[in-house]
Amino acid sequence: MNKKIKKMFLLCLILTIIFILCPSKIFARTIDNNIEAIDDNLYPGFKTLIQALQANHPNWTFKVEYTDLLWEEVINGEHQGHSASTSPTNLSPADNSKYSGLWICEICGTQRYDSGNWYCASKEALEYMIDPRNSLNETDLFQFMQLSGFEDFNTETVKNTLNTIKPSWIDDECVDAIIEAANTYHVDPYYILAKLLEEQSATSPLFTGSGYDGNYQGYYNLFNVGATANTKEGVILNGLAYAASQGWTTKRLSILGGVSVLANGYITEEQDTLYYQKYDVIGDSKYQHQYQQNILGAQNAGTYLKKSCSNDGNYSFIIPLYKNMPESACPRPNVSQSHSQNTASGLMGDINGDNDVNVLDVVMLINYLNGENGVDLDSSRLELAKVSGNSDVTVLDVVMLINYLNGEAVLPQAQILTGTVNNSTKLRLSPDGTEFKSVSSGTSIEILKRAVEAINGVYWDLVVASNGSYGYISRNYYQ
Ligand SMILES: [Zn+2]
Repeated sequence: MNKKIKKMFLLCLILTIIFILCPSKIFARTIDNNIEAIDDNLYPGFKTLIQALQANHPNWTFKVEYTDLLWEEVINGEHQGHSASTSPTNLSPADNSKYSGLWICEICGTQRYDSGNWYCASKEALEYMIDPRNSLNETDLFQFMQLSGFEDFNTETVKNTLNTIKPSWIDDECVDAIIEAANTYHVDPYYILAKLLEEQSATSPLFTGSGYDGNYQGYYNLFNVGATANTKEGVILNGLAYAASQGWTTKRLSILGGVSVLANGYITEEQDTLYYQKYDVIGDSKYQHQYQQNILGAQNAGTYLKKSCSNDGNYSFIIPLYKNMPESACPRPNVSQSHSQNTASGLMGDINGDNDVNVLDVVMLINYLNGENGVDLDSSRLELAKVSGNSDVTVLDVVMLINYLNGEAVLPQAQILTGTVNNSTKLRLSPDGTEFKSVSSGTSIEILKRAVEAINGVYWDLVVASNGSYGYISRNYYQ
């Protein structure tokens, strides 16, 4: 090999190794404090909302983060875990009239998760909570407050403020430990209090040290680290077992240990706002490294954090921007509407798969029965064509569809379409988009929405797998 080629080869090899070893170091974050420069066509509505806040708080620093992520992929990446074995990524409060109706997952319905007080959150709920435009207001802004880089503070001032804003059940031991942890890990002490209040109540066994059912007396887990399960008892016992494994025999030890997890596991992992700790849209393992399942978690903790903030304080806020967001902010889910079965299954008579029964379906069916070229219906579409209830598709189905369109017949209920993965693959976050969760051959899937058009010859259908994973699969990979 000639020397020059050898050198080039070596250089390429080194670059490849660097690229493989540290991709996150190469693709640095794009954070900008030039709010005026936000392109309103690409990120509609953001500039006006942020500038209104800037005008009211000239001392505060506002930054935007260009995440380079597609809005649709963010929502689908978060809308995962629709099964008891995996537990949903996002939960909303059960038995609460403020979070009923369209807040409840269109796939899981009223199946209970975690302590039993939670439902899986719907896609509409995710869109509403994750859309930053809904939180760019005086009340909800604090979930975007930057938590890293908190350095020196006046202990006496902080202690006085903590004592003013804390509820009475947060005792002196907790206040002193919050200050000690803030000093040790350079984390905002008010953020520590906010997290604690979001996680605990005065009577929780994880806070009181009373143990549970005679077990784990004298152990504390104030930040609920490791307290995940699908029953109330399981949540408490797992949390106490974790405390025991860490030797957290006082509230102080539990606070120092818990803040260490937050500081090293989240804040230094670039998840340095409450929003980023809840919605993992930054870093390498997107949508998978989140602090809590409660869809209201970031907003609630932000409300506590706000209590410690003053108008002349030196705060920074990081607001994420996503590509292809809707023109206006996603609406709050309607509590008096509910998901019909149609959103999670095939609509009878919808033969072309456009989520509507109309004259196009009649034409398609006639062409199919006539053996026209290019009209080849697969088995699941044929099931949706059997509107007259017979085991074969015949001219009777055409008649029934025409009668339905004339208002003279009623079609049968929607059908849940299912399939089986026949070749291991990964579900995608958008049609032909980013690969995400693996599904192995033999996994059963429910088809939520069939593609009407192919992309480069492939139909990408929206499905939920039996393991709770959600996304798009090529129609060539299931039957
Ligand atoms: Zn669900």
